[in-house]
Parts: sequence; structure tokens; C-alpha cells
Amino acid sequence: MDGQTSRIEAEPEDAGEGGADVEHFDVLLVGAGLSGIGAAWHLQQRCPDRTWLILEGREAIGGTWDLFRYPGIRSDSDMFTLGFAFKPWLEAKAIADGPSILAYVRQTAEENGIDRHIRFRQLVRKASWSSAEARWTVEAERTDTGAKVRFTCSWLHMCSGYYDYAQGYLPDFAGMDRFRGAIVHPQFWPEALDYGGKRVVVIGSGATAVTIVPAMDQAAHVVMLQRSPTWIVSRPSRDTIADWLRARLPARFAYQLVRWKNVLMQQFFFQMARKRPEKVRAKLLDLVREEMGPAYDVERHLTPHYDPWRQRLCLVPDSDLFEAIRAGRASIVTDEIETFTETGLKLKSGAELEADIIVTATGLKVQLLGDVALTVDGERRVPADSLTYKGMMFSDVPNLSYSFGYTNASWTLKADLTAGYLCRILNYMARKDVDIAMPRREPGIDELPFIDFSSGYVQRALAVLPSQGSEKPWKLYQNYALDMASLKYGAVADGTMSFTRSTETRTKVRVAPRLRSEQAA
Ligand SMILES: Cc1cc2nc3c(=O)[nH]c(=O)nc-3n(C[C@H](O)[C@H](O)[C@H](O)COP(=O)(O)OP(=O)(O)OC[C@H]3O[C@@H](n4cnc5c(N)ncnc54)[C@H](O)[C@@H]3O)c2cc1C
Repeated sequence: MDGQTSRIEAEPEDAGEGGADVEHFDVLLVGAGLSGIGAAWHLQQRCPDRTWLILEGREAIGGTWDLFRYPGIRSDSDMFTLGFAFKPWLEAKAIADGPSILAYVRQTAEENGIDRHIRFRQLVRKASWSSAEARWTVEAERTDTGAKVRFTCSWLHMCSGYYDYAQGYLPDFAGMDRFRGAIVHPQFWPEALDYGGKRVVVIGSGATAVTIVPAMDQAAHVVMLQRSPTWIVSRPSRDTIADWLRARLPARFAYQLVRWKNVLMQQFFFQMARKRPEKVRAKLLDLVREEMGPAYDVERHLTPHYDPWRQRLCLVPDSDLFEAIRAGRASIVTDEIETFTETGLKLKSGAELEADIIVTATGLKVQLLGDVALTVDGERRVPADSLTYKGMMFSDVPNLSYSFGYTNASWTLKADLTAGYLCRILNYMARKDVDIAMPRREPGIDELPFIDFSSGYVQRALAVLPSQGSEKPWKLYQNYALDMASLKYGAVADGTMSFTRSTETRTKVRVAPRLRSEQAA
């Protein structure tokens, strides 16, 4: 096997629609975003003898960075940690715009030949595991023709992100149908939307709202309408230490140094926020007051009711949001919506906001595994009923891993470690000649929430996410250094993961003629 071609196995019981042959791959990946492209790179490098394929429901590489097109779309973590470990980020800005991130992901796919292993417009709907055969049967729907396509694989790696691509989250606001202007959800930004000279209200105060508000600088005025404030901190979009190092050291070395610098700084700040919340709170408020001046009502609009890092912190590059407010192009209103009206919004305080365009930056609908229905030996399995194993597999679900990044640091840091660990598992299985790997749930492990954040979307998401356990390997550390120790250097055979051979393989071994003659010899 060369990693380029798949084995075609004509098995009548696995036939695709219309009796077509079912393609078999050693590994099927679902999703061609940062996680899928990164995992493919690891597979190519570390398991070069495996066949693999990426199934992607959309028409393009990039996932999040291709889907989101709202004004100002950008990362809110630095690209030295949101970039892949194996491909230095060379652009000038550390906080990068969406199109640059998309170009980086696509370039990675193209220069490594990963793009040739992607089948687009194939939305995976079902995956059924057979323990007897030690394989998944994966059913996808072609989004262009509606035809069903089937594959089999020995391992399924889900890189389908964490939210529903088909719909965003939208609370049930009263009177929405009365509004005569345009209502826009950032997940589906209309390319032709002309907001020049218009009055805009952006509902929300999360990462998306704080990005859109200063970016819509052609509007007559933009109001950020929030129910309650979020912690917002400004950071330069360029990293001066990175620039200094990059001017003097080879690109790859400088990248690794800056990556570690940023990982450690982020961890330090997160730990400080958790251990000394009052100190961090005071510091962040000082910074905000410095930005906004003494006349601004920081208490009302920029002082959250929760401690820093109990929800994801909002980063604004080069003070752009604060500057837009200072310049009078934007303002913050802290209030609640009573109802939409024909001309805008009526608020609970009795105030009214006139608007031509209302942007509902109200968040994502969290979804795990791209809504794929899983069965194991005919039994339905849902992630919410399981414990997460090392943040990348589910208890008692064999040969399936998933990529889920950090909530307190860049997503890709964990996605990279997960992909590396998957390769270690696959290579271990090949060495030991086993074909089933399954983390077995142990008694006496307490269940804890997957994410320890108070944000509304996290609270909504807990219903679909697995739990974490109170002890390793079921515990999530949200800490790159600890995960690196566990996933890069820890033993794959850790006593929790069971490695076995399927009955089919055992039967094949007994009757295989080649083996019989070998035994006779
Ligand atoms: C606006 C925005 C900004 C963000 N900024 C940051 C940031 O600065 N830092 C950070 O760490 N994180 C950020 N995130 C989180 C971000 O999603 C991750 O950083 C990262 O892009 C996730 O990559 P992924 O490949 O795991 O998932 P995605 O980018 O979501 O890609 C998943 C892919 O899987 C495909 N897919 C899903 N289901 C199926 C299915 N059933 N069948 C076939 N294909 C399927 C999708 O079409 C998509 O292409 C941001 C998220 C958003 C929405």
C-alpha cells in the first residue's frame, strides 16, 4: 500500500447503493478543516503504509475559515499556536484575518498532496461498527445528487468541528418577523449585504460581536447590544518578540520558540485567573479604563459579572473595538430585548434602538461528530452517554477518535497532539497484530462536565458533549504541556485501552491457506 490508493473489496453484504463495490480504507477522516488537514499530515508522515481518505460535506477545504465570511473575520488566538506544529506561520500578523488562515490551511493541503485524498460534497450521516469484522461501515450523502455512498474503514477519525454547519444559535426573540430591515446571522453573511451609511445593531458580546462591530466601519453607526458584559482585552496584532526572533533565526526554530512562549504565557495567565481572580479582574479593568477614559461607564458596559476565564476571554487586536467606540462610530448598549419592532428593537428598559440591519451574533449551535449517527454492533451510541478518553475517544466505542481543541488555548495545539497519538495507536496495533482498540470504562470514576465554563453556549453544549472523568486517562487537563507528556510520551497500552483481535481476524488466521502451509512447513 502506498497511502495513495484504496483497496476495493467486493463484499456483497457491504455493497454500496446499486450494488457498487464498497471502498475500504484503513482510516477515514471526516472533515477538511484545520483538524482534518493536520491529522492527514500526521498519518502521511507516521503511518505511510495506511490507506486513508477525507470525506468533506462542503465543497472546499478550510471548515470554519471557509464558512465564516462576516466583516473582519479573524482569529482570536495567535497563529503561532493556532498554526500547525509542523508548518511555521510566516505572515506578519500574529492575530490573522480569516482569508490568510484559509490560505494557510489550503497551502498545507496542497503542498503535501493531501488535497488529492479529499472527497468533497460527501456529508457523513451514519457509522456502524461491527466487532466481528473490526470495521466501520460509513454512509455518506452526496450533497449534489443526494445519492448515498458507502465506505468501510478500520478506523474512523472525526474532524468535524464542534458546531452545526447548517444552522447557528438564535434565541427565540419576540416579534422578529415584524422587523422591516435585514436580519443577518454571522454564520451566513450575505456577500452582497450593503451596510454603507446604514444603522446597524449587533446583538451579542462574544468573539464574533467584538470582531464585527469595529469592522463595519462604513456603517452610519454600529450598536453592540449586550445583555451583560464580557471580559475584553486588547493585544497587538503583531508579536514584537516573534518579529525579532524571526529576523534572526531559521523560520522553523523561531516558530517553535514563539509557539512555546505563547503556550506558556497563555497557561500562566489562565492559571492566574483561576487562582487569583480578584487580582486579574483588577488588572483587566485597569486596562479597559485606560482605553476608555474616565467619562465612560466601564462599570455598566465593560465589567462582567463573572471572573476572568470562567468564560473564554475576548481578544481585540490593536484596541480596534475601543477605538471605534472612542471615535463615536460604535457604542455599547447593555440592556435586554423586549421585542423586535418594525424599525428596530424595543428594550426592557423602555428604550428603543432604530436599525436598518440587525446582526444576531448570538452564537453557534454546538454539535459533536457532525451529527453522525453511531451504532456499535447494532446498538445506538451517543457521545453524551460516554466518558471522554484523553479528550479524543469515547468510552466503550472502538476504533473511533475525534479532534476537539482547547477551550482556553488554541484549538490546533490539541488537534496536533490528538493526531500524533492516533498514529501511535495505529502503529502499536500493527506491531501487536490486533485490530480493535477500545478504552474500557472503569468503575468508580466520577463524571464531571466536559468543559468548566459558565458561558451560555457551553451550558447548552453540555447536553451533547461526553463527560470527563475525575482521574486520568478520563480527565481533561486543558493544558498543552500535560497533554504533551501524556499523548506524546505516555504508554499507549495504559491498562485502560483494551487491544484485541476481532473474531473475523481470528477465523481468517485459522483457515488462511498461506498460514496453514507456513505452519506445515
Ligand atoms: C468565527 C470563529 C473563530 C474562531 N477563532 C478561533 C481562534 O482564534 N482560535 C481557536 O483556537 N479557535 C477558534 N475557533 C474555533 C475553530 O473552529 C477551530 O479553531 C478550528 O478551526 C476547528 O477546526 P476543525 O477542523 O476541528 O473544525 P471545522 O473548522 O469546524 O471543520 C470541520 C469540517 O468538517 C466538516 N464536516 C462536519 N460534519 C461533517 C459530516 N457529517 N460529514 C462530512 N463533513 C463534515 C465541515 O464541513 C468542516 O469542513 C473559531 C471558531 C469560529 C466559528
